[in-house]
Amino acid sequence: MTGAPPTDRTSVFGAAEADGIVRCDACPVLCRIRPGRAGACHRYANEPGPDGRSRLVRTDPLVLLTRAAGSGAPLVPFLDGSEEWAGELAPRDGVFVTAIGAGTTYPDYKPAPFIVASRHAGVDTVTVVTEGIFSYCGLKAKIDTDRHLGAEGARVLRDGEQIGHVTTAEYGSQMLSLGGVRHLTGGSKREGAVTCAAMLALCRKQAVEVVVEGGARVVLQAGAAPVVNGVAETRMRVGCGSAAVGIFAQQFQGHLDEVIVVDDHITGVLTEHQAGKCLSMRPAGIRVRGRRSTPGRYFQVAHPGAGWGGTDIRDPLEILEAVDPELAWPGLRLLLTSTTGEDALYCELDEALRPVAMPMPEGVARTVARIGENCEPALTSILFMAGAGGSLRAGVTENPILLTRRVQGGEVRVTMGGAPCHRWPGGGITIMADVLRIPDNAFGHVPTPALVAPIEFTLRADLYAALGGHVEHALALEALLARHGGGAQGRAWPAENPWPVAPEGGRT
Ligand code: SF4
Repeated sequence: MTGAPPTDRTSVFGAAEADGIVRCDACPVLCRIRPGRAGACHRYANEPGPDGRSRLVRTDPLVLLTRAAGSGAPLVPFLDGSEEWAGELAPRDGVFVTAIGAGTTYPDYKPAPFIVASRHAGVDTVTVVTEGIFSYCGLKAKIDTDRHLGAEGARVLRDGEQIGHVTTAEYGSQMLSLGGVRHLTGGSKREGAVTCAAMLALCRKQAVEVVVEGGARVVLQAGAAPVVNGVAETRMRVGCGSAAVGIFAQQFQGHLDEVIVVDDHITGVLTEHQAGKCLSMRPAGIRVRGRRSTPGRYFQVAHPGAGWGGTDIRDPLEILEAVDPELAWPGLRLLLTSTTGEDALYCELDEALRPVAMPMPEGVARTVARIGENCEPALTSILFMAGAGGSLRAGVTENPILLTRRVQGGEVRVTMGGAPCHRWPGGGITIMADVLRIPDNAFGHVPTPALVAPIEFTLRADLYAALGGHVEHALALEALLARHGGGAQGRAWPAENPWPVAPEGGRT
């Protein structure tokens, strides 16, 4: 059991049984918890109340985020789990009640654990908070690397179980799709448990090693450099080979007669490329392997791999297919580089028009360094994606479709631990949030298996009443602080997140 102060919400949850056992009814598992023990998820425990009788408590504190009035002012946490707030009526414009530590109600028709009424910027506002249990959730992992991690669609394994797959690569990043309802529920019990554990660790910003079938071993951690086959990535490429040729064409000119930027997707050849033509560069007559897409842009010059530019190339001269003696000349200065500048080779053609590796002249080295300078640090990003359009809406309103429509209409703001969520268009409330913007210790799990994540709905009080909200369960923020302040934890509002309550004009 954790040592965090319990939040007193025993009237909502749990049923006392014989021998001091309490049955937790916060999720479908319905744990029977003995005195002094925690339930299967460690989120609830059986602890003695003031009267000595067993009671169910949430083991983590409710997290309140505070911001100072006025922009630029220092942020001051107002609560350290103290009683000094008991009964105090104070202006609370700068307090946001998150769902972290709020608990879960089950079955779905029960009102959410906290329905907080407050006044922000002169607008009566309601924030409905609950720790949602998400069977329908997954992660999108964006891994800033050119290196080939595995074929699109390849299985991603953890402890021998499939927990996801490689999905469409993005510009300079490889992408994994992890978790999701099929791996949580559609395979073996072990597959579901391993998937849930991996997702939970990643959401908690911890490192997780996965293996791509037929590909690489990758260590993922939100906000950290990806580690591919034991090597930490440092640079995210400046662009594809064609882009790199275009960006640096002027800086190459005068120092080089030809530049080939090796890339798994689009290899660029400067003098053939429009950039070289615009600079009136003389055709060099060096032809590379692969399929010519447009002038100076070649696809499939090699196979994907962990070599130069995400290809399997270790010796870049391999991609030279032919040198045209009508166009090329002895002494021609040639640079081959990867899209990050980490790999680069300078050559000159000899009398037989064969490339000969030479020490890189200073002017060329400067531009190769400039390519590296323009690379961003390689990071792993983890986005949590879930459907909040299901049953947890009933904890907000008795007529859930009204909530869905108002969320879709932008009148209800959805946050996760105060962090902004991107809402996908179309039906339902399908949201996506960057786990790095969500406060620490926000995620949990239940052994169904499913992830537990905080979710808050913030809207005007009159709108909440109009859409059939559980207004009779609303608690004024001051009353909540008085009643639960001792079991709450104040944290400073993360400066990078927009304040979610009643911005300009009073719209939530
Ligand atoms: S798994 Fe957790 S939330 Fe579910 S019943 Fe057990 S203690 Fe309660």
